Amino acid sequence: MVATTLVAMLCAHLLCFSGMFLLISRRLPGNRMGMDYFAVGNLLLASAYILQLVEGGQTWSTMSVVNHTLTLAAPIAYWLGAMRFFGRQVRLWRSLIVFSAIYVTAQLLVQWNAGSTARYAMLAAVATMLFFAMIVTVIYGVRTFAKDLHGEMIFFALLIAGICVLNALKFLKIVDGGLDALHMDSRFQMIFYIYMSSLATILPPSIVWLVLRRLTDNLRNMAARDPMTDLLNRRGLMEALQLYFNARNAAPAYLLLMDVDHFKRINDTYGHQAGDEVIRQIADLLRATVRRGDLTGRIGGEEFVAICLETDREGVMLLAERLRASVESHAIRDSGSGHLLRCTVTIGVSPHFCGAHGLEDALRHADSALYRGKAAGRNRIELASVSNRIAAENTESALVN
Ligand code: GH3
Ligand code: MG
Ligand code: MG
Repeated sequence: MVATTLVAMLCAHLLCFSGMFLLISRRLPGNRMGMDYFAVGNLLLASAYILQLVEGGQTWSTMSVVNHTLTLAAPIAYWLGAMRFFGRQVRLWRSLIVFSAIYVTAQLLVQWNAGSTARYAMLAAVATMLFFAMIVTVIYGVRTFAKDLHGEMIFFALLIAGICVLNALKFLKIVDGGLDALHMDSRFQMIFYIYMSSLATILPPSIVWLVLRRLTDNLRNMAARDPMTDLLNRRGLMEALQLYFNARNAAPAYLLLMDVDHFKRINDTYGHQAGDEVIRQIADLLRATVRRGDLTGRIGGEEFVAICLETDREGVMLLAERLRASVESHAIRDSGSGHLLRCTVTIGVSPHFCGAHGLEDALRHADSALYRGKAAGRNRIELASVSNRIAAENTESALVN
């Protein structure tokens, strides 16, 4: 009786949260962060438990075959939902249909050859393997695609480990004591249902928390980045600098301000779309040229910024020259017209600065250096407040003098 009440409550929980996940998923764009898949997972698991309540004992029936299939299809739906949450393109219905066809066939074969006990043992064994595979995926995720959700992933791995262990014990009990071990009011089954009910209470809010965290992270990211190039904007640069200078012993930083030469001509000759393509490709070159840890940003139409951390003036001048040369040598294909476009940049380099509050000054200094570079003929690097002007054609060895 107690077990029946527990299972009924579990079903109610699963159905309520299935509805909630579905409602949340309808408000989310794109892949809906997998919330629709989680809703289906809950629905499948609730259906499995409803069938179990209706079915009663461990009999061989169509309902029992469907029940076992749904019991395993649910975690597969959760797994696929988690993949969607992390941006993987996976198909729900096709995977579930293929899995169901295979598992129904396996059940028929096992029932035919070895009887009901073996079929129930198979359910517990496959569930154990499935949950174990999930734990491995979560641990892999912590090291790769889900690094930012380290704490949450460990929490999920522990919860899943609980179900994994309970299913493994269930398998051993069936092998040892046959189907009597699965009596609904047995101590083991009570513990099993209590654990499942606790999970049904803890997991849904945790999943909602993940979605909220992702949404707020995305919002923060959108506020800090330029949508066309995904480089940092002024605000993003300021925040990143604050983070950098908050660390004790942070070395001074240098700022490079890079402006595309005669960019208006590109727009006028090839159109704005070609201009946009040039901006995107120069952003890619910038990202590829700076050192790991340096900051890159776009602060105006065709004005880019690189902030070099942990380096000295020689290192900055070398980087500036690498940047200038890589833009000059790179041919940009305009996908609209098919034309190959070439352009150059002029770069102004600020003196070093030692705090996030120095950003505006550094920009001002780099801007006046840039202005001098433009006046002096473009395609060159100009260092602020320092008289040594570096012509584009100079070699790198000349730059470090
Ligand atoms: P200079 O060598 O002196 O820098 O000459 P310039 O022609 O590049 O002059 P300037 O830097 O003032 O030109 C910037 C132009 O960039 C003006 C504006 O129409 C264009 N622009 C600004 N934002 C965008 C953008 O997002 N896309 C495109 N295609 N053009 C933009
Ligand atoms: Mg320009
Ligand atoms: Mg400009």
